[in-house]
Amino acid sequence: EQSRTPLMAGNWKMNLNHLEAIAHVQKLAFGLNDKDFDAVEVAVLVPFTDLRSVQTLVDGDRLRIKYGAQDLSAHDSGAYTGEVSGPMLAKLKCTYVAIGHSERRQYHGEDEEIVNAKVKAAYRHGLTPIVCVGEGLDVRKAGRQVPHTLAQLDGALKGLSAEQAASVVIAYEPVWAIGTGEVATPEDAQEVCGAIRGRLAELYDQQTADGIRIQYGGSVKAGNVAAIMAQPDVDGALVGGAALDPDEFVKIVRFRD
Ligand code: PEP
Repeated sequence: EQSRTPLMAGNWKMNLNHLEAIAHVQKLAFGLNDKDFDAVEVAVLVPFTDLRSVQTLVDGDRLRIKYGAQDLSAHDSGAYTGEVSGPMLAKLKCTYVAIGHSERRQYHGEDEEIVNAKVKAAYRHGLTPIVCVGEGLDVRKAGRQVPHTLAQLDGALKGLSAEQAASVVIAYEPVWAIGTGEVATPEDAQEVCGAIRGRLAELYDQQTADGIRIQYGGSVKAGNVAAIMAQPDVDGALVGGAALDPDEFVKIVRFRD
């Protein structure tokens, strides 16, 4: 779909301190030009401690790189030691926040209810959620990747208006392909991304569904991104490991070259 601007987002996970973050974003700014930014939206999802430094650099040099966080609290303030709120991220002018990444689900027990509450917290403060969904290896082996992922989608988006849903980003990340070097085939990615768009049309309407960006994530690299991006319902990539190398991430942004 020509009407959907691809979104390439780097998920740094727990890597790069604030000094490394500045150097990294400067390298991206050197490597990318206006033509790239006209064609593709570029974002980095960074550790909380990097956000202020990234904001200062992006603001000061008017960079077209967007940035955001990898998680947020479902609560807006209060006695939640160690958490970071939506208002705090909004104050730092974050565009995006990843929600329900498989590592949050796996290591921090995030269930559908928490993911849904965090999505609503993001919308309360003008942040765009990148909602991560996707099946584990056992579910894939049982051939249940579509119903499993659609159930996660339903849970994450529960109670959202069509207007809110219109700006959401969905990241389909099969857990067995994250950080494993095992990339889903383009056909595997399309199967589930297409099913996600079909469900979005059922939940809202076709026009809304056609406008929503659906990313694929799972061992995306410069060498495999073009084939995945060629699929009709894949509108971008959520990139972990390969996003830690700025030269590689620039090549991913230039997937059409
Ligand atoms: C991710 O963290 O969202 C991810 C897809 O990681 P990787 O690209 O390293 O598989």
